[in-house]
Amino acid sequence: MYSNITLPGLEGVIVTKAYQKEGIYHLHVELERQPHSCSKCHQMPQTVHNYRMQKIQHTQAFGRDTHLFYRKRCYICKEATCQKQFYEDNTLVARNQRQSVEFNQALSIELIHAKHF
Ligand SMILES: [Zn+2]
Repeated sequence: MYSNITLPGLEGVIVTKAYQKEGIYHLHVELERQPHSCSKCHQMPQTVHNYRMQKIQHTQAFGRDTHLFYRKRCYICKEATCQKQFYEDNTLVARNQRQSVEFNQALSIELIHAKHF
């Protein structure tokens, strides 16, 4: 179950899971992988170290509570002397707040899509 569609207003956001639980929509999202330079030594490329799940409680989408789970990538610097760990650039939360209307529309599109899984 892997949906690789682009949501309007949320380009680069991938919905990996969408389901309903106790009347609440749960959406699992992650961001497309982008090149990141090390925040300390600025070397590229970096390898993905691990992921952290961040829960973003979205207000409401079409009258329903919606919980967003953002799978945040953590990179580790390949430079042996550095090995700095850092998170990917995350504009998801900011975009979520700024573009709530577009976001709700995107969610409704995605949830219609999710029903076909
Ligand atoms: Zn580094």
